[in-house]
Amino acid sequence: MNPLTLQFAPAAAIPVHLIGEVQSKLAYVDERIAKAQISPAGDQISLELKRAVPTAEQAVIEEKVQRVVVSMAQGAIRPKVQVLEDYLDRPTPFAGDPMPELLRRGELSREANGIYALGPLLSHLIDWFERRFLGLAESFSAQPYRFPTLIPAQYLERVGYFRAFPHSLSFATHLREDLDQIDAFAAGAACDDHGNLNVPLERFAPIQTLLSPAVCYHLYFTLADQTLSPQGITATAVGNCFRYESLNLQSLERLWNFTMREVIFVGDKDFVLENRELARQRMQRVFGEIGFAYRVESANDPFFIGEFRKQAAFQSAFQLKYEIRARLPFKDGTLAVGSYNYHQDFFGRHLNIRLPDGSPAHTGCVAFGLERIAFAFLAQFGFDPTQWPSSMQEILP
Ligand code: AMP
Ligand code: ZN
Repeated sequence: MNPLTLQFAPAAAIPVHLIGEVQSKLAYVDERIAKAQISPAGDQISLELKRAVPTAEQAVIEEKVQRVVVSMAQGAIRPKVQVLEDYLDRPTPFAGDPMPELLRRGELSREANGIYALGPLLSHLIDWFERRFLGLAESFSAQPYRFPTLIPAQYLERVGYFRAFPHSLSFATHLREDLDQIDAFAAGAACDDHGNLNVPLERFAPIQTLLSPAVCYHLYFTLADQTLSPQGITATAVGNCFRYESLNLQSLERLWNFTMREVIFVGDKDFVLENRELARQRMQRVFGEIGFAYRVESANDPFFIGEFRKQAAFQSAFQLKYEIRARLPFKDGTLAVGSYNYHQDFFGRHLNIRLPDGSPAHTGCVAFGLERIAFAFLAQFGFDPTQWPSSMQEILP
């Protein structure tokens, strides 16, 4: 039999708190998987395949899935979730899914999976939140920076990004500087029915550059091999970020290409931690003014399979990451619209950024996902501006 669905029990029990993390990684197990689901109790895995697969190959796919399960779930300890703010219960006037309406209005145009063009309503909403984020940056006298969308492979290698997040990398290259190759490309380049360009890989130059996955890394690289002045650095920047999320790419909630505003702190430990905490308190007031329903809780980054258990436990033990999780009433769930991060002296050590006393600098950042915050706002407040907080009604022309 060559079924299109595979079902089996996981080799190790998947604790409930890890179901989402493991399930999202199953997207990267095999190209033939169209959908992967773990039962709510964590005791059943079900894979939908794109096409029928011979029995021997099914066993290969199952074995790869079990490798993920064992690596991520076996012996995993549930981290204690620390909640710093809880306003999830704030009443909000809307409960629909904004996506169909955004598409119907032409406010969103899907260019490809995880890639969208945004129209005026979303742009005005993002501008409103941007003004608040810039206000936050100003309150710290943060200096503005502009960073490129591309990032050298060597940079990411230096900070261990390839080991931690290989699955989500996006590579950038160009044609080799060779007239025959360029002429052949110009004469024959075309996309097939799946949108795949019919160009042999050897026509491309070796990869030296990627699309940047985060904003603050660029600042740390500008500071490499330097000694900071005693007052440290406070910076802000907005930029395009890229994280390939495969089957998990979904609506405006999970994009391949998204925009992040960051406020970044570089200095000694107390400087970074105190400013991170101040930023949280200042944003608490901003969110309170519009009656946003959200919670701030401890979290971890989506490390790849082999790195996940160790790194996530480390982040949790040292309270390195907190997420602002907005309520999405239409799915009775939450979505991370921002994060408060502390990297200890990780970048200071790897990039040789020194404090005046010669010790490695500490870094931290506050990061907001602009598409997500606009999406979460519409999910809570809907499309009728008379239902919006009064301070936001002015944004529409
Ligand atoms: P992080 O550095 O992972 O905490 O990301 C900062 C913020 O960027 C998150 O809180 C999200 O709001 C946003 N973000 C991260 N990944 C994505 C994605 N794939 N699509 C849309 N927004 C994202
Ligand atoms: Zn950052």
